[in-house]
Amino acid sequence: MTRQKIVAGNWKMNGSKESILSLVNGLLEMKNANSEVVVSPSFPYLSMVSELIGESDLVLAAQNVSDKEQGAHTGEVSALMLSELGVKYVLIGHSERRSLYAETDAFIASKAKALLAAGLTPMLCIGETLQEREAEQTFAVCIRQIQAVIDVIGIDAFNNVVIAYEPVWAIGTGLSASADQAQEVHQEIRAFLAQSSLSVSQKVQILYGGSVKASTSAALFEMPDVDGALVGGASLDAKEFIAIVKAA
Ligand code: PGA
Repeated sequence: MTRQKIVAGNWKMNGSKESILSLVNGLLEMKNANSEVVVSPSFPYLSMVSELIGESDLVLAAQNVSDKEQGAHTGEVSALMLSELGVKYVLIGHSERRSLYAETDAFIASKAKALLAAGLTPMLCIGETLQEREAEQTFAVCIRQIQAVIDVIGIDAFNNVVIAYEPVWAIGTGLSASADQAQEVHQEIRAFLAQSSLSVSQKVQILYGGSVKASTSAALFEMPDVDGALVGGASLDAKEFIAIVKAA
């Protein structure tokens, strides 16, 4: 089965009006991308980026969402609000949110449910820490993180979920997993999903994230179970990000 590749930039809490304007304008010059190219600015810039990308092929993602529909939740942003801004994907389960903001598997699953109810696509980030990898817990951790979401939304809903495998030890460290290491985990994830639904396992796009650069992306994208990348640092540089897109 051929799966459309996705190259998504996770801008994290970076940028200003000025730098984001120039970044988006740089990306808008890109022609004929084979993959779906996604950008995810911080909340305050979503509206501006949504207008800038207009009818172009660039796709908008958000970095977070509330698991609540509406009401007395000061400081939160609902899935419906994001959908009104033209957002398609929302990152959930990013390791920074798990570790710095104590987000649990159950809370992340609840966000997935809220997103699907609003017609948005969760981009579910999973991955092991270095300690967990060294203890040979990589698959167990990834599967636990996915199972917690399946428990709440069901396996069939994964037809509308993108998974991003992001080993924590590779995020922002310059130490990318090798293409073989990524493939091994992606294959394992797909095999796990196949136990519940073969069609979901074949359809679900699994991105790799963690220090992806232009120089390492081609080898990653050659792997049969790597369906794209979630790119942090390198997505803040239009030239570098476009080079990653070109490799896909
Ligand atoms: P990085 O971040 O590419 O800077 O390692 C990836 C991510 O956190 O999504």
